[in-house]
Amino acid sequence: MAGKRLHHFLLGKVQGDLGNKPVPRDMKTALQGLFPEELQSLCKEIGQPAFRGRQLWQWLQVRHADGWDLMGNLPQALKQALSATCTPGPARLLKESGDPGGARKWLIGLDDGESIETVLIPARERNTVCVSTQVGCRMGCAFCASAKGGYARNLSEGEIVAQVQAVAAVLGRRPDNVVYMGMGEPFDNYDAVLKSVRILNHPDGLNIGARRITLSTSGVIPGIRRLAEEGLQVELSVSLHAANPELRRRLMPVENKYPMDALLDACADYTARTKRHITFEYTLIRGVNDARENAEQLAGRLRRFPCRVNLIPLSPVEEFEGAAPSRSAMEGFLRVLEKRGVEGTLRDSKGQHVDAACGQLRRRAHHT
Ligand code: SF4
Repeated sequence: MAGKRLHHFLLGKVQGDLGNKPVPRDMKTALQGLFPEELQSLCKEIGQPAFRGRQLWQWLQVRHADGWDLMGNLPQALKQALSATCTPGPARLLKESGDPGGARKWLIGLDDGESIETVLIPARERNTVCVSTQVGCRMGCAFCASAKGGYARNLSEGEIVAQVQAVAAVLGRRPDNVVYMGMGEPFDNYDAVLKSVRILNHPDGLNIGARRITLSTSGVIPGIRRLAEEGLQVELSVSLHAANPELRRRLMPVENKYPMDALLDACADYTARTKRHITFEYTLIRGVNDARENAEQLAGRLRRFPCRVNLIPLSPVEEFEGAAPSRSAMEGFLRVLEKRGVEGTLRDSKGQHVDAACGQLRRRAHHT
């Protein structure tokens, strides 16, 4: 490995010393993060009948409204009283990039001036929304633009749901799938993420099936163990990116906290408990983790439980020198996995056509 590239790997470290930062107390509550019963209680607290809570839910979760002006059948007094502490528009679309017919990425502005990114990936008639769960990320993965942009805070459940609602408003209909693969580590913000899943899955709201919702983690073991007990049919995706702990540590500092052997034990327990497959994400980087022996090692570790591997060509990121392998090298890697009994797929890197990896729009916005 070239010295320069190694240097970039060594830059990565988990920013755990920063501590996990909640949503600031003085921010207004994002109404998209409340269940119908909670909206009803809120209305009762300000002296309004409970059915107003149901109407509010309809506007927010079914009609994708993000402003008081749009909610024609709600009394002015209710809007005024609630607007002192709550907002129906916690996530505003600031800027879009993308190609017609391809992935679309939005820079989204939050109430405290922070910004995040949300991506819409159209594929085979199905629209998938990729949401952020934190402003930045503490995990420090070497090839990730979100990590380089620094970590500011967690998102609230309402800020997460509002991203999906904002895209639904653009589309004029509900998206088919939601993946928690944008900026942030979902299990570093577990409670808000799980509540947002339950709201997106609510039968009276967007009603996105649990199997159409994917939670993606860099390998935060306590989150995997908690999720196994939730009784939810969501998909779980775990980012490995390396087949041995030494290499993984250089790519993903989270390996220092949650080592690969313990992580794979937690994954085996998860599949046994939930009877569900796990998808392992493996970003292919030329000359780093794409050799035949890497594929053999990976298959050897994953053969023991039901899973599949999603191979992703590296997206170009400023300040990281790596590149994706050739198509034929990636196909060769896949063949080795399959020969050894591990199912895999080779993904197109659609994001390359937008603005490359997650986190880049936000960084650009901060630097212009
Ligand atoms: S790849 Fe994911 S977990 Fe790793 S730093 Fe980026 S956003 Fe965080």
